[in-house]
Amino acid sequence: MKLHLSTAEIFVPDGLPIEPALRRTTHLAVSAHQDDIEIMAAAPILECFQQEDLWFGGVVLTDGRGSPRDGIYKDYTDEAMRQVRFKEQRKAASIGEYAALLMLDYPSKAIKDGSNPQPSEDIAEIIKAAHPNFVYTHNLADKHDTHVGTAFKVISAIRSLPEEERPQKLFGCEVWRDLDWMVDGDKITFDLSEQQNLQTALLEVFDSQISGGKRYDLATMGRRRANATYFESHGVDMTTGLSFAMDLTPLIISPEIEIISFLQEHIQRFGHDVADRLTRLG
Ligand SMILES: [Zn+2]
Repeated sequence: MKLHLSTAEIFVPDGLPIEPALRRTTHLAVSAHQDDIEIMAAAPILECFQQEDLWFGGVVLTDGRGSPRDGIYKDYTDEAMRQVRFKEQRKAASIGEYAALLMLDYPSKAIKDGSNPQPSEDIAEIIKAAHPNFVYTHNLADKHDTHVGTAFKVISAIRSLPEEERPQKLFGCEVWRDLDWMVDGDKITFDLSEQQNLQTALLEVFDSQISGGKRYDLATMGRRRANATYFESHGVDMTTGLSFAMDLTPLIISPEIEIISFLQEHIQRFGHDVADRLTRLG
């Protein structure tokens, strides 16, 4: 498999050669940054954990150079931060027993540049080699430009593939903006009640970001708990952890669907839901 950047890294925690390591992948997450996968795609990591026939693969697009830094990392150069973030992401891949981890090493600006085809071409190559059934990426209503840029690259990569090479499902997951606002009919729910120890461990390895001043570990576990409790207003909690996703599959089944209109329809359904309630009760 040929990736555009020679500095891209492929890490296989159990040491299998790259080709068979990728080929066994059934669930693939593609994120902008180191740590996003563990925040947004815990469900498929757990689903594949310790399974012989289910394997989780992770792809991180950016190089980590622009990461915020504080505490013991305060004086780190961009290259030193890059190294630390790669190291942390490898640790998560080992804890989560990923089939393979690919870090493509692009600067953020390449991901935000809609005219740069290279990241999409790399993602398409990876999907061709891995043939995952399910792909997870950022949701289109995220408020971080690099995250939305990543979702665009993933959609365009999958659209470039012949139909038989495309995954069955594409999910847009929660990082910078949760998906509680979507109407319940639009929500894909992932039950994260089990193995909260493992979920926490996957988040805790990203010390450079957490001790750098952002408690992503507590916030992410708290969000899962909040999603579980606030999902259903009548009745008791069915789960103790839940994450939401936007189903982006229509965009890969029908490449003619405009991405912006697709997202606006979700927002309109939310708008109507709120307005209908006000009309009914006012
Ligand atoms: Zn991110």
